[in-house]
Amino acid sequence: MSNIAVFPGSFDPITKGHENIVRRALPLFDKIIVAIGHNAGKKNLFSVEQRIDFIKKTFADTPKISVKTYEGLTVDFCKKHNVNFLLRGLRNATDFEFERDIASFNKDLSPNLETLFMFTEPVYSHISSSVVREVLRHGGDATKFLPNTLKNEIKPSLRTAKQ
Ligand code: ADP
Repeated sequence: MSNIAVFPGSFDPITKGHENIVRRALPLFDKIIVAIGHNAGKKNLFSVEQRIDFIKKTFADTPKISVKTYEGLTVDFCKKHNVNFLLRGLRNATDFEFERDIASFNKDLSPNLETLFMFTEPVYSHISSSVVREVLRHGGDATKFLPNTLKNEIKPSLRTAKQ
């Protein structure tokens, strides 16, 4: 049986912090699915198509990493794709408290699904998609927070993003 992990999130947009977690987890799994969870009611800066495109470009060098989208519960997405590991990143105590509850809920809902946490590398611990969005909305330069392959992608994409 192959070991598949899902790395779920909004990825609005993907940051260097996300990229770092996925790359460091790669030796543990045969495949990692970066899964964009979305619901029609939630406001995002970038469209789902744009977020897929950013993630694909970030990991274009790594065939073991794929991108999918889902609506609804993460545990249902994992069942559908025969996934038994959920990967999450931890930056600080706030992430920890939040993630612990989510992991406990998911364990109740799907006992065979294991949530694995990786601590962020300290250089990325202050990076969040929400701060990146704030910088972009105000015309700032967010490139240092974004995967290197996206350096020239985000600004043109902003023209069609919902600001
Ligand atoms: P959500 O909408 O669930 O908060 P995100 O797209 O912001 O999703 O993040 C997805 C996952 O990436 C979460 O586990 C989050 O803790 C982790 N993460 C976000 N930013 C970083 C970072 N800078 N370093 C490590 N992990 C991170």
